[in-house]
Amino acid sequence: MPTNNKNYSKTDKKRKILLLENIHQEAIKLFEAQNYDITSLSSSLNEDELCKAIQDVHILGIRSKTTITKKVLQSANKLKAIGAFCIGTNQIDLQEASSRGVFVFNAPFSNTRSVVEISIANMISMLRNTYKFNSLMHKGIWLKSADGSYEIRGKKIGIIGYGNIGSQLSVLCEALGMSVYYFDKEEKLQLGNAIKCDSLEELLKQVDVVSLHVDGAKSNTNFFGKKEFDMMKPNAIFMNLSRGHIVDIDALKDALVSEKLAYACVDVFPYEPKNNKEPFKSPLIGLDNVILTPHIAGSTIEAQANIGKFVANSLINYLTTGSSTLNVNLPDIALSKLQNAHRIIHLHTNKPGILASINTLLTSHNVNLLAQYLKTSGDFGYVISDIDVDYDKSLIDKLKALPDTIMMRALY
Ligand code: NAD
Repeated sequence: MPTNNKNYSKTDKKRKILLLENIHQEAIKLFEAQNYDITSLSSSLNEDELCKAIQDVHILGIRSKTTITKKVLQSANKLKAIGAFCIGTNQIDLQEASSRGVFVFNAPFSNTRSVVEISIANMISMLRNTYKFNSLMHKGIWLKSADGSYEIRGKKIGIIGYGNIGSQLSVLCEALGMSVYYFDKEEKLQLGNAIKCDSLEELLKQVDVVSLHVDGAKSNTNFFGKKEFDMMKPNAIFMNLSRGHIVDIDALKDALVSEKLAYACVDVFPYEPKNNKEPFKSPLIGLDNVILTPHIAGSTIEAQANIGKFVANSLINYLTTGSSTLNVNLPDIALSKLQNAHRIIHLHTNKPGILASINTLLTSHNVNLLAQYLKTSGDFGYVISDIDVDYDKSLIDKLKALPDTIMMRALY
């Protein structure tokens, strides 16, 4: 990843970067090293505020509280990329971003370990009742007892969603002596001795702890509700550190009040306050068998710094080389630094013949092609052409005018 890549686009030398939601200093340092024009705000903006603020911005950096709607994207006259300094990207209208040639980057792995560690910490706390003991002690009550306290060794954990977080949790739980069961809608490599379940029901019926780690896709709304809680073993433990809308919160409350569940821990909610001043409201408030945390599972000093560096480097890399590695919405190409060449970056609707049209234009301008890369994905095609610096510059406008072009830029 570059830290001081000097390549630039002639048309927009001074890049404008708008960062919302207190993006980490590590990211700001990397943008400063590129001499970008940076505005960094500590909170998110609402749709109308963002429609104004996004004017002339090349790069927008957000976390999970800012919603990027179609209207916001329509107001973005120069936007090239969005950096989601978090894991989830469901707060962004990805379809609209793609159709406007705006690449979206996130940090898929940078806080994985932090979420896994707090999942384990909460699970042990719930099985050992440490929260209950703590609250009794603060009331001056000494209740020395082993009742209701268990080791995690030998217990069965059921991990739902065996992606980055679920699979790492699987490895650590096994190291702690647990039996791991998992269910994923996709075929996933089974790690260690983890046992793959063919259905949610198969998993829910046999495990002591259920931990949800599915992604925040709309289709997962209320994925886990009364039917699923009913299938769980009596006195089981439930953990949701994924996304709030995935769980029917009233059904969770019923399962806790009826003591069908011994305990739950919840870090994410269907509605979350927009900032630290807004009060938190939830039907779960006041229940003594649920641990509530304010969406901090992935929030550690280490993770914030890692996310800051990772996303900033992806954005800088994209701006300076066209490299779109690990972007979430458009074709993914890893590119080297540009040397003694000009680079033509062309995003288009994925239709047969576009590469041929680009190359016909290059040939008609006697361009010496040094290297060329093409990647298509769904409705989009991404072509990178490195060309000898000596060519008729009217070529650039002709390439921009090619039918089905979504975005074109040149790096010098
Ligand atoms: P991931 O995309 O790597 O993994 C998600 C897995 O869930 C995938 O394997 C997918 O196939 C599976 N899945 C999706 N829908 C499913 C369904 N209906 N049934 C079964 N499997 C399904 O994501 P990740 O990086 O492991 O993150 C997991 C979740 O944790 C996400 O929702 C993410 O937003 C959330 N998260 C929360 C915090 C926090 O602070 N609380 C921090 C980081 C991530």
